[in-house]
Amino acid sequence: MKNKSTHFDTVVVGGGPAGIATAMHLGYHQRKVLVIDRKTSPMQFVNTSIHNYPGIKPLIAANAILQKMRKELHEFNVETLFGNVISIEGHTPNFQLQVKSSKPKPSTVTAKTLVLATGISRKHPKVDGDWKKWLPYAAKDHMSYYCPDCDSPQTAGKDVIIVNAGTVNSALHVARCIRPFAKRIRIFMTDDSNVPFTKDSETILNQSGFEWTHGLIREIKILEPGKRQQLLTVDGQTLECNTFFVAWIGIPRSELAVQLGIDVDSHGNIITDSQGGTNVEGVWVAGDVRPMTQTVATAVGTGVYAGVMIAHFLLASE
Ligand SMILES: Cc1cc2nc3c(=O)[nH]c(=O)nc-3n(C[C@H](O)[C@H](O)[C@H](O)COP(=O)(O)OP(=O)(O)OC[C@H]3O[C@@H](n4cnc5c(N)ncnc54)[C@H](O)[C@@H]3O)c2cc1C
Repeated sequence: MKNKSTHFDTVVVGGGPAGIATAMHLGYHQRKVLVIDRKTSPMQFVNTSIHNYPGIKPLIAANAILQKMRKELHEFNVETLFGNVISIEGHTPNFQLQVKSSKPKPSTVTAKTLVLATGISRKHPKVDGDWKKWLPYAAKDHMSYYCPDCDSPQTAGKDVIIVNAGTVNSALHVARCIRPFAKRIRIFMTDDSNVPFTKDSETILNQSGFEWTHGLIREIKILEPGKRQQLLTVDGQTLECNTFFVAWIGIPRSELAVQLGIDVDSHGNIITDSQGGTNVEGVWVAGDVRPMTQTVATAVGTGVYAGVMIAHFLLASE
């Protein structure tokens, strides 16, 4: 029977594929579950197909998959709230979360157990000094790719410019991943990247054997998406290609975990055991915010695993 109290068995922070997978498992087992999400998952804006997720032929765009997942949540009576969790305190079985939503005052939600499925924040390249001016080209209509594990084969036969918004190593990682597929690869190191471009970076790039240049992006011109695109630099170069591949750095969203005293590694990823459990009893973690390959399949897998473990934990504590 469903519990009628307003105290949740589990609150899931983050409604990307990982959080949804946890919530679905718990909802299926008739647990009282709430998913709180501020809706910035990459699957919200990627409108090209996902090729590396089993069982979805004919292929579906990432944003359509996320919509389907969200719809299915309601079939399992999982409650959802659009909002930003700003703080968490307490211990199992009484965690208190402060949530900022459209209401003027933050509200409090309580739960026996928690899942942090908050993902990572990715840094984009800047156009004319502003990363927001890159967003119209970010992972839309094959104008740029971001995920070498997911999209390297999509560059087959294409002339690709890797636009670097991270470290020299992120650029070289992308270059090596797409080398078996792309027709031509150039690396464009942005001088206003989040990681400073140094003499050492220059030496590493020269030794890499990849064609490269650096500068500041003044403008992007899309003549035909995914086919004819131009990157115009402040110093007057026009670089033309078929598509861009962004090399980025990601910052795990682990502030709430830190507040709760949960251990994170040197990159900020939340440390878990193999089942997604943390050093704080009653708190599990799923998806990209764990140190792992960032794909939808792994996010869903870790989400389900956390859901199964929480269901067992709740049974044992009743
Ligand atoms: C451009 C791009 C293309 C990709 N293409 C593919 C692909 O083709 N195939 C593939 O397998 N993978 C792909 N990926 C990777 C895939 O999108 C991620 O691995 C997956 O979305 C991770 O799921 P997640 O649930 O862990 O995190 P996310 O999807 O990032 O979801 C986390 C959610 O938590 C919310 N959140 C965070 N903090 C709070 C808070 N304090 N309060 C409330 N909500 C919060 C965020 O708003 C977000 O909605 C791609 C990624 C990018 C960037």
